[in-house]
Amino acid sequence: MIHIPTLPDNMSLREPDEFAVSVLLVDDQAIIGEAVRRMLTQEAGVTFHYCGDANEAVDMAERIQPTVILQDLVMPGVDGLVLVSQYRSNPKLRDLPIIVLSSKEDPKIKSQAFAIGANDYLVKLPDAVELIARIRYHSRAYLALKQRDLANQALRLSQQQLVESNLALQRMTKLDGLTGLSNRRHFDEQLDLEWKRARREQLELSLLIIDVDYFKSYNDSFGHVMGDEALRSVAQVLSQSCSRSGDMVARYGGEEFAIILPNTSHEGACSLADGARLAVQALAIAHVLPAPGATLTISVGVATMVPEQDTTKPIALIQRADTGLYQAKEKGRNRIGAA
Ligand code: GH3
Ligand code: MG
Ligand code: MG
Repeated sequence: MIHIPTLPDNMSLREPDEFAVSVLLVDDQAIIGEAVRRMLTQEAGVTFHYCGDANEAVDMAERIQPTVILQDLVMPGVDGLVLVSQYRSNPKLRDLPIIVLSSKEDPKIKSQAFAIGANDYLVKLPDAVELIARIRYHSRAYLALKQRDLANQALRLSQQQLVESNLALQRMTKLDGLTGLSNRRHFDEQLDLEWKRARREQLELSLLIIDVDYFKSYNDSFGHVMGDEALRSVAQVLSQSCSRSGDMVARYGGEEFAIILPNTSHEGACSLADGARLAVQALAIAHVLPAPGATLTISVGVATMVPEQDTTKPIALIQRADTGLYQAKEKGRNRIGAA
C-alpha cells in the first residue's frame, strides 16, 4: 500500500490571520482591566481576557492560548517578572509575546524585564493607539512564527512519508505479487551480482531451476484459484528449503522458480534440490496426473560453475540448469536433473 504524502487535518498552511488577536491582561487592578477592555472594544477581531489573580495567570494563559500577554509588574504577593519567567519556562507558553506594563519608566526594571524574556515594555496606561499597534504587531509576529513551525512540521512529515513510500515502492518492485518471493527482475540482478562475486573469488555458484509438473492440467482440473494457492504453497516450501542468508528463492515466471546458491558445491546443490522436491511431494496436494490419485510434484535442474574470468554474464549457468530441468522432465518428472 503506497501512501501519498498528506497533511493531517489540523495542519493547514494559510496566512497568519490578521484578526485572530487574543489578549490576556494580567493585572491585579480591575480598573486597569476595565480601561484596557474599553480601548479594545472597538477593535475588529480582538478578543480580550482579564486575569486579576496572579496565581491563576499561568493556568489561564494555558487555557486561553492568547496571542499576546499584557503583564503587570507589581502585584500583591507576586513579582510580575517571576511570572514572565514562568511563562517562558512553560512549553505551552514559551513563545508567547509578553508586553510588560510598568507603572514607571525605569531603565533598570526595563532591562531586567527584557533580560528575563519580555518582548516589549510600556508604561501604564499607554495611549490606545500605541497599545493596539503593539498588540497587533506582536500577535502577528507570533502567529507567523506558529505558522512557520507548522509548515516545518508538515514538511518534515511529508518528507518522512515520502521516504516510507519510496521504501515500500522499492520493496514492491523486487517482489512477486502472488508468492511474495523475489521477482524475475530482482533474480536477474542478484544472479549477475553473485556471478561476478564468484568469478572474483573463484568460488562455486549453484543454480536451481524448478518447474511444477503437469501444472497446466492442474489448472484445468482444479481452476486457477486453486492453482495460485498451490503455487504459493510450493513457494513457501522452497523458501523453507534454503537455510543460508545468501541463498535466494525467486519466481522465475509462471509455474517456474529459481534458487541461487552462492558458494555451494554441486553435491550440496543436488542435495538441497532433492530435499525441496521431497518437501513439495510431502505437501500431498492432490493431482490427476501422471495418474489418478497422484500428488503435485516438481522437477529441478541443477547447475554449478566456477565462473571463468572472461565471462561477464551467467548465461552458461542458466543454460546448464535449463538442460538439467529438461532431462528431469524427459526422464519422467518428480526428480532432479544435472547437466
Ligand atoms: P510440465 O510438467 O512439462 O512442466 O507441464 P506443465 O503443464 O506444468 O507445463 P506448461 O508449461 O504446459 O504449463 C504451465 C502452466 O502453468 C500454464 C499455466 O496455466 C500455469 N501457470 C503459469 N503461471 C500461473 C499462475 O500464476 N497461476 C496459475 N494458477 N497458473 C499458472
Ligand atoms: Mg513451465
Ligand atoms: Mg510445468
